[in-house]
Order: sequence, then structure tokens, then C-alpha cells
Amino acid sequence: MNATTHTSVHSHCSFCGIEQTPATPMIAGAEGAICEACVKLADQVVSNWGRKRVLTELHGPIPKPSKIKEILDTYVVGQHLAKEILSVAVYNHYKRLKHESGDQGFNHLHHEVELGKSNILLIGPTGTGKTLMASTLAKTVGVPFVVADATTLTQAGYVGDDVENILVRLLEVADGNVGRAEWGIVYLDEVDKLARSPEMATNTRDISGEGVQQALLRLVEGAVVKVSQKGKKRDGGGDEVALDTRNILFIAGGAFPGLEKHVSKRLKPSRSGIGFHAEPVDSDEKPDLEALLNETQPGDLRHFGLIPEFIGRFPVLAPLEPLNEEALISILTEPKNALTRQYQKLFSYENVELEFTEAALKRIAQKAIERETGARGLRSILEHVLRKPMFDVPSIDGVQICRVDEEMIDGLRDVEVVVRDPALSAAEEGESRQPEDSEFAETDKKRANSSH
Ligand code: ADP
Repeated sequence: MNATTHTSVHSHCSFCGIEQTPATPMIAGAEGAICEACVKLADQVVSNWGRKRVLTELHGPIPKPSKIKEILDTYVVGQHLAKEILSVAVYNHYKRLKHESGDQGFNHLHHEVELGKSNILLIGPTGTGKTLMASTLAKTVGVPFVVADATTLTQAGYVGDDVENILVRLLEVADGNVGRAEWGIVYLDEVDKLARSPEMATNTRDISGEGVQQALLRLVEGAVVKVSQKGKKRDGGGDEVALDTRNILFIAGGAFPGLEKHVSKRLKPSRSGIGFHAEPVDSDEKPDLEALLNETQPGDLRHFGLIPEFIGRFPVLAPLEPLNEEALISILTEPKNALTRQYQKLFSYENVELEFTEAALKRIAQKAIERETGARGLRSILEHVLRKPMFDVPSIDGVQICRVDEEMIDGLRDVEVVVRDPALSAAEEGESRQPEDSEFAETDKKRANSSH
């Protein structure tokens, strides 16, 4: 192309016909010229092609719900009900987008039926995999994904993060591609913290909670929102783009502490029934909480303090169960990027094997349960236990194995560091070296010899 920014031949824009003046410069091509306004228009048209292309790309096979669940299974332990609900909701969401974008095979059947968006609300204690599930889903479907913490958001005009910034970030994750951003997934964390406390209900406006729910509604409902591509919203200078939030899937999550009380209050008449309809009373508290969360209905969320309009926009409710010891042990060892595997990989960079005894894993799980932070506690427990060996090992020559047992989890002993050559290690052993080291070193020496 041999366009120049100056022309004396073409005095009018070949597209809109406007005359060239010093205030209206033209870009000249071989056969004609184009003004600034038409360049901008052309840019919009072309980016629209981009959107269509994105749609076509996603028209590839959307994994079936069973396949989505299978993928979730490789990353998320337990939570089968939530996984099933999410797989169906996500499958339906992207099927609906196909439908709307006129994909044959769906469209010819029910052309007149307009499908509504089904945002999802995940209800479950902290650290049980809500964020993990949402991010794994986004990866599975291959769409941009952002996490927004509801507690940092404020309604427009107050100090804090504007809700529109969520879209700015989504656009960034989509590399500025509006079409991709419009098909993204947003995970809104800690929405339970937006609940209006009952004592505030009759008081002045509750800006931290209800105001944000109202502000979020606009995004969740599917408004077209103007955002700056450079992340400088409304600064006048940045490139503003209109983002249609109609197809963005919102997944909200929260622990909703105390929600079960509202549910059990509603269910009480039937639960306390006697005679034929009496339900067996479960003495264990945890299954009870699960069962109650499974029964959650929109009315209970309203009693909890969410506004009806907000609840109405999250028609799919998915409960998550608290993680028991067995589940936490699985989380430590089974998923693709299980925590113990992550640390084992870190140690393998130093050519060191990291081993955990079964009892150690059990103790880690028990400690995490005591902390009541779900699987979140696991990493900090491991980090605490392995801090010293991670500090020492790189400076010790010939370390072959680090062994962790339950006493080390309780802080009664340091992690065992096994060095390949006892003679060499004697000179260099650090504080973390255990008295039993030589015994292990013997075994390791034999093992090393037999492998040669
Ligand atoms: P939350 O429910 O509070 O959103 P997260 O999904 O952020 O919890 O979980 C925190 C971390 O705990 C995750 O990054 C993951 O490593 C681990 N985790 C939590 N739940 C599970 C689970 N069910 N399966 C596997 N890992 C989990």
C-alpha cells in the first residue's frame, strides 16, 4: 500500500465526500482519500469482523456437560453437585450464544424463543473451591476470565474500585479484543459481604453493600457499558469502547455464614414433623449444613440481605460442601497441580525428593480443618513446615531426600534432610539435620550404589 498522509490530488474523502481542509486532513491512497472520521468508522467495522470471527472460533465444539465435569474433576476434588450444576449452566450459556449468533442446528428449531442468561451463585464455605471451579471452567471453554472481590467495590462516586473496572480488566485479559471480552466469565467473590445487615435496612443508605449490589446489577443485567481500553475510564484521553455485557457470564460466590439458619427456619415445619413424615435427625453437624445449603432458595438469600433484583439475576444456585479430612488429603495429593506435587517440583529443581508420610498428610488436613479456612489453610501449613528446608537445602551439597512426618507438621521436630554422602554431609550439615539422618543416609547410599 502506498498511502501518504498528504494529498493535493484528492480534495474530498472518497467515503463520505467531506472536503479536505487544514482542519480535515486526508490520508491518500492510489485511487482516493479518506478522512479521520471514516478511518474511525472503518476501524469499528473491522473490529466488528473480529467479533464475528471470535464467535465463529467458539462455534467449535463446546464440550458437553459430562466432558466439562470430567475436566473439572481433574482439578477440583469433590463438590460433585456443584460441578454438575456448573457444567450444565456453562454448557447452556454458550449454547445460547450459539443460538443467538444464528448458528444453524440450534436456530432453525426455535427461532422465536429468546433464552435468558443464567448467571450462577456458588454458596459454600471459604476455601472449598469456588474460585478454582470458575477459573477452571473459563479455561475449559477458552474464554477470558477475571476475579473481582466484591468487598473492594464501591458504587460510582465513592472511593474504591468502580464496578466498571471489572470490565476494563476483562478487556485487558482479552488483549483488548472486545468480542472475546464480551464472551468472558467474571467471578464475583465474597458477594455475601454485600448483604445489607438487618439493622441497616431502615437506616441511611448502606453504601458498602446495597449500593454495590445496585451498581453490579447494571453489568449483570446486560447493559452496554463504556470502558476505556487503557484502563483509564472517563479520563477523556483513552480509547473508549462500548462493551455489551449481555453475554458475559457472571459467577458469584460467597460463604453466606448463617444462611442455613434462614433455610432451616423456612423448612422447620416439615423438619420437625412427627409420625410418618418425620425425617431422621442427623446428629453430625456437617452433613446437616450441606443438606440445608442444598435446600437454599432465593427467599433465603433475601432474608440474608441480598436485594431481590440481584438474587433474580443469579437463577442458578450451586451449593458447595465443607471439605472433610479425606477430601483435604486428596486435594494435597491428587489434582493435576496438587500442592504436594507443586512443592515436590520445587524441590526437584535442587535434585531433591520431597516425601510426606501418610500420617503427615493426615495431620496437615486436620490442622487445616482446625483453622476453618478450607483448603486455603493447606498451603500456609506446608509453607510454614517447608520454610526451613527450602532455606537450608540449596546451601547443602548432596541432599537427596527431604522427609516430612506428622511430628514435623506439629513443629516438634525439624524436617528430615537426607544427604547422599554422610562423610561430606558431616562437614556441611545445617541445623535442620536430624540425628537419624545417618541411618537414612546409609539406606540412600545403598540405593545410590544399586542404581549404578
Ligand atoms: P473459595 O471457595 O474460597 O473461592 P478457592 O477456590 O479460592 O476457594 O480455593 C483456594 C485454594 O484451595 C485453591 O487454589 C485450591 O488450591 C484449593 N482448593 C479449594 N477447594 C478445592 C477443591 N475442592 N479441590 C481442589 N483444590 C481445592
